[in-house]
Amino acid sequence: MGYKHLFGPVASRRLGVSLGVDLVVHKVCSLDCLYCECGKTTDLTVERKAWVPLDAVRAELDRYWAENEDPDYITFSGSGEPCLNSDLGRVIAYIKDNKPNIRVAVLTNATLLPDPAVRSELLRADLVVPSLDGVSEKVFQRINRPCASLDPERIIQGIQTFAGEFSGRVHLEIFILPGVNDSPDDIALFKAAISRIKPDLVQLNSLDRPGTCDSVTPASRSVLERVKQDLGPDGVEIIARVPKPSDKAGRRQGKDLEKAVLETIHRRPSTCQDLSGMLGAAPEKIQALLDDYEARGKVESRKQARGTFYQTLKDDALKTEP
Ligand code: SF4
Repeated sequence: MGYKHLFGPVASRRLGVSLGVDLVVHKVCSLDCLYCECGKTTDLTVERKAWVPLDAVRAELDRYWAENEDPDYITFSGSGEPCLNSDLGRVIAYIKDNKPNIRVAVLTNATLLPDPAVRSELLRADLVVPSLDGVSEKVFQRINRPCASLDPERIIQGIQTFAGEFSGRVHLEIFILPGVNDSPDDIALFKAAISRIKPDLVQLNSLDRPGTCDSVTPASRSVLERVKQDLGPDGVEIIARVPKPSDKAGRRQGKDLEKAVLETIHRRPSTCQDLSGMLGAAPEKIQALLDDYEARGKVESRKQARGTFYQTLKDDALKTEP
């Protein structure tokens, strides 16, 4: 049996072997970022609620723990913004109470960090990765296409307050879009925000999969190096593009591997090589699965500069798989 709310584990670019937990449905978010790998936001909202049932998430975690080796991390990310789920704190507590050895990471767009209740729910995590792509209102609107109520200054204040309260690590992620948020003025604003937030690390990210907007191009290595130099360079890292195959990654096999492939590309378009590296299976095996899924109309492929990316066609692709 596959999973509806868990995905992976994948050999993550940042966290080692990481099991994903998706606490929203596709595609609930407070932003509609130009570069989003999950596709266009269909439910643009700041409303917190139980977007997926808490009992179902706990039951899937129990089943995963019973059947698999523990991952290095459990990471909240997936089809939208995890902090929009009002049970986030309960799920983090469930993991920490039952598996204190597994570290918990939350990847968040930071828009809800001005809310003290959200900040308090995150306190038992080990790592929080808030993102900040635009400090000025103009760049924030252009890149993140936010819910009308959101204001970048309040968000920065929220991240700053959270970083002061939190005893775990804060990695501030900045997604660089060349020609959009990498001008000298933008960099100066980022520097000022970083000096207020004082994150443990700044991570520069860039597009490596299809985004929702074809006009968005990936930042070249030289652009990222320039931004790194301008921002630091100490305490600033460029996130490597392609995950390396990991011996520890491949824990799901046979029918379960087939499901892991679908669960992964349901959240993120991926190439055969990406999936092979993330899931620890031979590329030929993965390619055969992808070809079969494509022939059966379950996935579609898009050729990009970095390779052919596959993603699921329908939201119910996971439900219909036996
Ligand atoms: S990149 Fe993250 S914050 Fe932006 S729209 Fe996608 S899920 Fe939401």
